[in-house]
Amino acid sequence: MKKEYYSIFACLFVSIILGLIYFTMIPQWTSDDEGLPTEFSTKRALNQVETISKKPHYVGSKNHEVVTNYLVKELNKLGLQTSIQEGYTLSDWGNLVQSKNILARIKGSNNSKALLLLSHYDSAPHSYSPGASDAGSGVATILESVRAFLHNKSPHKNDIIILFSDAEELGLNGAALFVTQHPWAKEVGLVLNFEARGSSGPSYMLMETNKGNAGLVKEFAAAKATFPVSNSLMYSIYKMLPNDTDLTVFREQGNIQGYNFAFIDGHYNYHTAQDDINHLDKNTLAHQGSYLMPLLKYFSNADLNMTQASEDYVYFTIPYTFISYPFSWVLPMVVLALTLLIFLLFLGKAKRLLSFREIGKGFIPLLGSLITTGLITFFGWKALLIIYPQYNDLLNGFTYNGHAYIAAFVLLALAITLAFYNYFSAKKVTMNHYVAPLIIWIIINGIVAFALPGAGFLIIPVYFGLLLFAAFIITQKSRKILTLVFSVPALLLIAPFIQMFPIGLGLKVLFGSAVLTVLTFGILLPVFGPFAKKGIWSLVLFVLAIGFFAKAHSESGYEYGKAKSNSLLYIYNADTNQANWTTYDTNLDSWTKGYLGKNPKKATNLNDIPLFSKYNSGFTYAAKAPTKEIPKPSITFLEDRIVGNQRYVKIKISPNRNVNRYDIFANENMAIHNFKANGVSTLGQKNSLYQRKGRKILSYYVVGNAPLEMQFSVNSATVLDLELLESSFDLLTNPLFQITKRENWMMPTPFVLNDAVVIRQKIKPSPVVVANTLNPAVVNPVVKERAAIVKDSLKVE
Ligand SMILES: [Zn+2]
Repeated sequence: MKKEYYSIFACLFVSIILGLIYFTMIPQWTSDDEGLPTEFSTKRALNQVETISKKPHYVGSKNHEVVTNYLVKELNKLGLQTSIQEGYTLSDWGNLVQSKNILARIKGSNNSKALLLLSHYDSAPHSYSPGASDAGSGVATILESVRAFLHNKSPHKNDIIILFSDAEELGLNGAALFVTQHPWAKEVGLVLNFEARGSSGPSYMLMETNKGNAGLVKEFAAAKATFPVSNSLMYSIYKMLPNDTDLTVFREQGNIQGYNFAFIDGHYNYHTAQDDINHLDKNTLAHQGSYLMPLLKYFSNADLNMTQASEDYVYFTIPYTFISYPFSWVLPMVVLALTLLIFLLFLGKAKRLLSFREIGKGFIPLLGSLITTGLITFFGWKALLIIYPQYNDLLNGFTYNGHAYIAAFVLLALAITLAFYNYFSAKKVTMNHYVAPLIIWIIINGIVAFALPGAGFLIIPVYFGLLLFAAFIITQKSRKILTLVFSVPALLLIAPFIQMFPIGLGLKVLFGSAVLTVLTFGILLPVFGPFAKKGIWSLVLFVLAIGFFAKAHSESGYEYGKAKSNSLLYIYNADTNQANWTTYDTNLDSWTKGYLGKNPKKATNLNDIPLFSKYNSGFTYAAKAPTKEIPKPSITFLEDRIVGNQRYVKIKISPNRNVNRYDIFANENMAIHNFKANGVSTLGQKNSLYQRKGRKILSYYVVGNAPLEMQFSVNSATVLDLELLESSFDLLTNPLFQITKRENWMMPTPFVLNDAVVIRQKIKPSPVVVANTLNPAVVNPVVKERAAIVKDSLKVE
């Protein structure tokens, strides 16, 4: 090959390999036809999603019931008998709700353990999310796969349980109800859970197990999914994130393990009004189906006890293939790589092909480009957040133009690296300078072996690098075709993470992508080192990077389908008879300004009671609002007695309007014991003390306006200091308010209490009784009905 064409050919080769990886990861060009009844049809599944996601169907909404009935009917249509499991659960972070699980069971011929297919059917509250991806896509995947499975009369040994769980979005309550209370739970041997944290991209398989993953790994490999996408590094990272799924409850509460299948790209649509049928990528839905069909066939016949193991495995996927080996190989593989490198170094030195001085010089372009790109990307993204303050509006940390920024910074990283190598590394010393990246990669793998063995597969590209290095030392020549072929493992195993990290963890980790780009370049140095005109290539990539920055700029505004999120709440304080408008937004827009005014005050006073927020966002601004005649809840002390040094209290709070949520707070000094709410105590409660963080006791999501009944005991010397927030999610439709509709480029902020009419009020027994401490009836432990006492003492006076 002529020298001047090599660089063009090499770039083409690398681009084609990357393109192939991208396009073979998930099904492409999904058909718009229904196809054969014997197969999973993405079109039929999409039709299901469309029906389920017509309207928001969060727990407590009217449409929730519509969807429940629809799903029961669809299961019946498949010839299955359904049952509903209903009941209250109180999650360990204080979410109380009555969930309604939908269940069906297909009898197997020779059952040992049952296979459970799981997805949740409730949508996220507060933000008008229709729940197409999350998790309508999961429910539809199960319905369509089971339909095909039954149509084919597929023989199976194991029972198959279908569980459409409820209240996942509130606190995994439906799953908890099933695991802790349903008799079928003990028979479950394996769970396949379908989820979404976005609206597009590949669906990643993520295992959940209390023990070793070896059994799950081997069985997953045996099931032969067509498009497996997963690796053990992702599982390690997933474990560190606060993204719990229903399957987490199965693992923690029931020691039942399984696989999650979840897609995460398009994070900006997650839990928003944009989680609709139009934003769900049909290739992604096809990918979900491509998992369940073979897995259903395999696991409905497999011995599910085989998924148990104590050992851990490293695993990763390349297109159409799932590869794994034991954790115990990780360290020896690193040691062997190091030994091989040292041997080659001395051999190369003896053959006068290497000079330690030149090898040392090889660190200059590598570390120089690593540090420069790391810093430029880190501070570059910070600067962009200042230049485009609107990027702070979306709390999930991935902007609508985020993909353009990934491309821009990766190209910039490559441009910088090529510039460094152009200046500090001549063609003829490439193999000397290749030692630096080999050493850095072996160090990284050494750290990985001890700290994050799930990433152990990163040693594989290093081996291909060492082989190239060995070929050079032995033959004294670099072979271009061999070099290109041996670059493929690095492109397969490392390159996808460059995009995956910011998609998974947010654009704040873009610098990680940039650093990884340089490191990938390093391991591929034999490919790029011999480029004749690195300076020109650097310039070309720099211009391309600018192009992507320009693209990102042109897409930095809001429009319909890429909406700005905003929030508005009306909070009436019943104790002070004052009302406020408030918001979580940092950038007010025309809509919020209509209520908060042009110069609203900081909302510091409203943040003394911390409402749950995934991103710890408190209220930002507040403004005085007119007081309205909103019916306050009735608070009754059903029981209030003192036995010994303990005070026993039972409080009933009944709404006098249509409400959706109660948040109860208590002074942090109150040690609360034997707590029960609507008859249930906290899941996994170990001793009598009620565990809580800060002032919050619980968030109760109301179904059918059912009142809240709390009972607990405190030390009799403790002052009862309780407060409630009663919220209805109807600010925009409540006839007491004439709120203008949002413009079409706006949507409600997800993850926080939003669009709500809130009453804030202290929870107190009648002050008459508290003041009258000399009344023997109060001090006396036999007082039972506080309400009756109040009446009596009023009569006396
Ligand atoms: Zn979900």
